[in-house]
Amino acid sequence: MPLAMVQTAVERLEPRELPLPPIGDDDALLRVEACGICGSDVESFEGVLKVPLPLIPGHEPLGRIAAIGKRAAQRWGVAEGDRVAVETLLPCNACRRCRTGAYQLCAQRRVYSYIPLAVAPGLWGAYAEYLYLAPNAIVHKIDPALPPEIAVLFNPLGAGFRWALEIPKTQPGETVLILGPGQRGLASVIACREAGAGTVLVTGLSRDAHKLALARELGATHVIDAERENVVARVKELTGGRGADVVVEVTAVATQPIVDAIDCAALGGRVVLAGVKGMKPVPGFVSDKVVLKEIALLGAIGVTWDAYERAIRLIESRRVPLEKLATHAFPLADAAHAIRTLAGREAGESAVCCALLT
Ligand SMILES: [Zn+2]
Ligand SMILES: [Zn+2]
Repeated sequence: MPLAMVQTAVERLEPRELPLPPIGDDDALLRVEACGICGSDVESFEGVLKVPLPLIPGHEPLGRIAAIGKRAAQRWGVAEGDRVAVETLLPCNACRRCRTGAYQLCAQRRVYSYIPLAVAPGLWGAYAEYLYLAPNAIVHKIDPALPPEIAVLFNPLGAGFRWALEIPKTQPGETVLILGPGQRGLASVIACREAGAGTVLVTGLSRDAHKLALARELGATHVIDAERENVVARVKELTGGRGADVVVEVTAVATQPIVDAIDCAALGGRVVLAGVKGMKPVPGFVSDKVVLKEIALLGAIGVTWDAYERAIRLIESRRVPLEKLATHAFPLADAAHAIRTLAGREAGESAVCCALLT
């Protein structure tokens, strides 16, 4: 029977053999090739984010269609054997938001890796050899010749295209400040370069030196060590006093970058908030600055079809050295080690993107 890694408690992942469900006309089974790991995997694993246990984690799946119903094949335009990238969300496809294209805001949406094992057929996470593709799953075809650890970057890259371009409507020549050099910060650098942004600035902490160096390689104009330099002063200096047209905030937990984002934004600038802070209030937030500078404050959650497609086309073009992002890959059985590596809890390891290869 196929293997899945099941989270049974905080910091506990156990290998289990689970049966494959029968497939009807409207659904499918994915033979998982790879699953990306992000900060929310770390939070679920560590118990910071409450999830209904036991469950199979993994919401960034890449794989091949192992079995598919007739109607699903027609609807999705894929056949058995095709390689696909699977979106994280399972929208209802019936509500007003789904009907108007804003399916990332569907109130009835479900999310891969947050559905417990008890909900049939149980295979709702991609830390497994097989994933259940429900009738409302969203899949994108992707070049089967790409190495799996590169193809699986569709998820963070999709976020870069949506958060740094689609939401703030970034224009060629504009100055973009990206706060946080993690997977999604670096993906934002790549997306900004693709869109012809002018100056691209990236901030990070001293321990992020390797990520800031990578940001430079991927096209950032300048990087700023937020622990050694005054972010606001440095951004003003690098933009001739104007500030950034677009600010993308993708740091985890820290609230000071929100305050910095407002101070670094140009008059009439757009600030995209995508980093979650554990529901903390933001000390030092002065709303008058938003008013007086007429800043557009834009929340960002999730990725849309177009942004995923742009990310996939970019990966398939092989124009960007994405292998530099894919720093670590692990076999399925080492899922806990993979999560700890991404979290920076393994001594001597400096991870950017970690993937499980199945
Ligand atoms: Zn993720
Ligand atoms: Zn809906």
